[in-house]
Amino acid sequence: MDLGITGRVALVGGASRGIGRAVAEALVAEGARVVITARDADRTAQAAAEIGAAAGLAWDSRDLDAVPGLLARIAAEVGPVDILITNTGGPPANPDPLALSTEEWEQAHRTLVLAPIALLSAVLPGMRRRRWGRVVGIASTTVREPIQPLILSNAERSAGLAAYKTLAREVARDGVTINTLLTGSIATERAASLAGSMAAAEAQAATTVPAGRIGRPEEMAWAAAFLCSERAAYITGTALAVDGGALHGV
Ligand code: NAD
Repeated sequence: MDLGITGRVALVGGASRGIGRAVAEALVAEGARVVITARDADRTAQAAAEIGAAAGLAWDSRDLDAVPGLLARIAAEVGPVDILITNTGGPPANPDPLALSTEEWEQAHRTLVLAPIALLSAVLPGMRRRRWGRVVGIASTTVREPIQPLILSNAERSAGLAAYKTLAREVARDGVTINTLLTGSIATERAASLAGSMAAAEAQAATTVPAGRIGRPEEMAWAAAFLCSERAAYITGTALAVDGGALHGV
């Protein structure tokens, strides 16, 4: 299937490794001109070179003030953003959901709600004017079934999902879609660090995920690439789980 996104400008966050990087790689393979961001300038530039992205720029998703400058630079050097993948590192886990500080809650809110909203507020007007745009949020199955030590992810990603749903309805008439992927257990550094090691993450997935294994970052990327495609024009406001069947709800 031709996804029909050759030449489209894509911005992918948290893409020096893991799911973000895999999504960026899939969009490059589809002919998009991809800009990746992550915290560390050198690692981001290196990842961009390795996957054939148009640019790799340092941006910390907690830095809301840097959003206008980041987007102005991308517009000048590559073009206005047609495809936005909102993604960043996950918030910390804590075995005691009552032990998190106000600062930790504020950081999680900033990175999982305020930062994506700042990006969306900046790129949606142009997408609407050009009558084409695709937004995919990388979230988590925790919005459907909270995971006990991940209260920050459970709560803040749910807030983000509700905002995306609201905005999806607002812009649907203008050829812009906004969807969310609910990440299950995917083999990345995040999964390894939460489980203690990659071997532990794999062993856990082998027994708890109906598919009998941990997912691969490319399996998230292929779903994201489809949602970014011309072919997915009539899909908006959805939250698609990529979880090997792990969610119980219908
Ligand atoms: P990862 O830790 O492997 O990669 C995260 C990426 O985000 C890296 O490129 C990192 O440099 C970047 N990053 C981290 N903090 C940042 C910040 N403040 N500003 C900018 N960039 C930052 O994680 P991943 O597994 O690829 O996960 C991507 C998202 O999906 C995360 O939010 C994670 O919590 C979520 N998720 C992952 C899983 C899983 O099993 N892997 C499951 C559910 C949800």
